Amino acid sequence: MSSTPIQLKASGAEIYIPDGKSIAEALNRTTHLGVCAHQDDLEIMAYEGIQECFGKKDKGFSGVVVTNGGGSAREAQYKDYTDQQMMDVRKIEQKKAAMIGEYSAQFLLNHPSSNVKSSHADVLADLEAVFTHCQPQVVYTHNFADKHDTHVAVVSRVIAALRKLPADKRPKKVVGCEVWRDLDWLCDKDKVVMAVDEHENLGDSLMGVFDSQIVGGKRYDLAARGRRLAHATFFESHQVDKHKALIWGMDLTPLIQNPSLDYFDYVKSYIDRFADEVKDRVKRMNGG
Ligand SMILES: [Zn+2]
Repeated sequence: MSSTPIQLKASGAEIYIPDGKSIAEALNRTTHLGVCAHQDDLEIMAYEGIQECFGKKDKGFSGVVVTNGGGSAREAQYKDYTDQQMMDVRKIEQKKAAMIGEYSAQFLLNHPSSNVKSSHADVLADLEAVFTHCQPQVVYTHNFADKHDTHVAVVSRVIAALRKLPADKRPKKVVGCEVWRDLDWLCDKDKVVMAVDEHENLGDSLMGVFDSQIVGGKRYDLAARGRRLAHATFFESHQVDKHKALIWGMDLTPLIQNPSLDYFDYVKSYIDRFADEVKDRVKRMNGG
């Protein structure tokens, strides 16, 4: 916990504290931190942390949305909105989610997506400041096999910022989470298994507030719930379901423990193990 007040770099950046406590207190009580690109990503990917901290006195989930949400799709109801008005709608939706999920703090860093992709110094400085002030035990962010450029940019900046922290200030665990492209392809032993059985109603409520993204027909709310249910049922073919809902993650902790580990080499080790597993089964079933 740093004693200096946190300063964010981008104009229009905000720190929203749903229960109205001081920023210092809200950051100090943070144990789980989700860092994502866009409004609504946290609720899709980092629900384990939100659920884990919900209603707890000794745990707190804080969320970080890195981009300003600019350039998002304009559905019929919002077709006359300017890009700025649309960004404002998305920020309000994120604050609603933070209130419903009882987040400790909600950061809206407000960086243009292009700055995140180009590794702008302000983006790294903000992330370093957030990590230094919150000192979370667990960090949830995107994973390197996601198919959205900005998501991969965010996880790259997150790992870079965490590597700059002194070793004893780094989180114990960093989980790369699924949004665009799920992680069912990971070998079972490589999956970070996040059970999200509790408070199903809360999960639905959190997704439901992002009306501007859902109203035009992108049913992220149903899709996120459906993916969790599907993961639980299709996990083990020979056993009765142990969980009702699961989210998969990729453990990214080795990347902060070993700063010389290359991002692509690391994710490729997962792809290689997946390829080996498929190859082995196909060979075995064909006399090999
Ligand atoms: Zn996103």
